[in-house]
Amino acid sequence: MQRTRLLLITGLVTVALAAGLALHAQHTNAPAPSSSKTNTHQTSFDKTKYSTTDPASLWAIVNKQHPINPQTYAPTDLTSVGNSQLMRAEAAAALSQMFADAKTAGYTLVADSGYRSYSDQVAAYGSLVKAYGQTYADTVSARPGYSEHQTGWAVDIGSGNCNVADCFGTLPAGKWAQTNAWKYGFILRYTQADSAATGYSAEAWHFRYVGTSLSTELHKENIPTLEQFFNVSGGATYKPVS
Ligand SMILES: [Zn+2]
Repeated sequence: MQRTRLLLITGLVTVALAAGLALHAQHTNAPAPSSSKTNTHQTSFDKTKYSTTDPASLWAIVNKQHPINPQTYAPTDLTSVGNSQLMRAEAAAALSQMFADAKTAGYTLVADSGYRSYSDQVAAYGSLVKAYGQTYADTVSARPGYSEHQTGWAVDIGSGNCNVADCFGTLPAGKWAQTNAWKYGFILRYTQADSAATGYSAEAWHFRYVGTSLSTELHKENIPTLEQFFNVSGGATYKPVS
C-alpha cells in the first residue's frame, strides 16, 4: 500500500516536472523575469523605457497632435519585407515571422505599404488635395510629417484582392492578423471605437510595430491605443508644425 502510494507520488512529480519543462520550452522566447523581485503579479511595466517623442523610438507616438520631429526624419535601417516595401529591420523580421505563421495557419498576408518618406507623403497628400480638396484629403490621408509610415514602424497589410480596404477586417486572413498581431509585436492602430483617441477612422489594414513587450502589455491590460496607454493627446485636429 505504502509502496503504491510512493510510486503514485513519484509518478505525479515526474508528470509535473515534464509539464513544467514543456511550458518552459514554449516560453524560451519570452523575456525572462530579471529577478525574483519583479516576478510577482504586481509587476509594473516601465512606460519610460523608450521615448514616445523620438521618431526613431520603438514607442514613438505619431498622430495629428504629434508630428514627426524633425519633419523630414528618415530611419537608417530600412529593410525589405520580402517585396518592394520597407520597414525598420526589427519590424521587418517580426512581420516575416507573422506572415510565415499565417501561411502555416492557411492565410496569405502581404505588405501593401510599409515605409513612406516625407517626400512620398508630400506627393500622395498633394495629389489628393489637388483632386478632391483638403477636407477630403484630410479624411483619407495623413499630412506630410504626420504619418506613422514615415517612422518605418507601420505597415498596411492586405490579402488576396483586398488591399488597404475595409474588407480586410472581415476576411479570415484579416481576422487572423487582428487576433495574432500582438504576439509578433504589432498592434492594430486604428479602430472605429478608438477614433476619438487616435484621430483616425477605422483602418483594418494598418498595423504598427511596437515590440512584443509593449504589445503584450496592451493585450494583457486590454488597452487599445498608444494614446491611452501613455496618456498622450491625439484626436482629429492637426497641430501645426512649429
Ligand atoms: Zn497605413
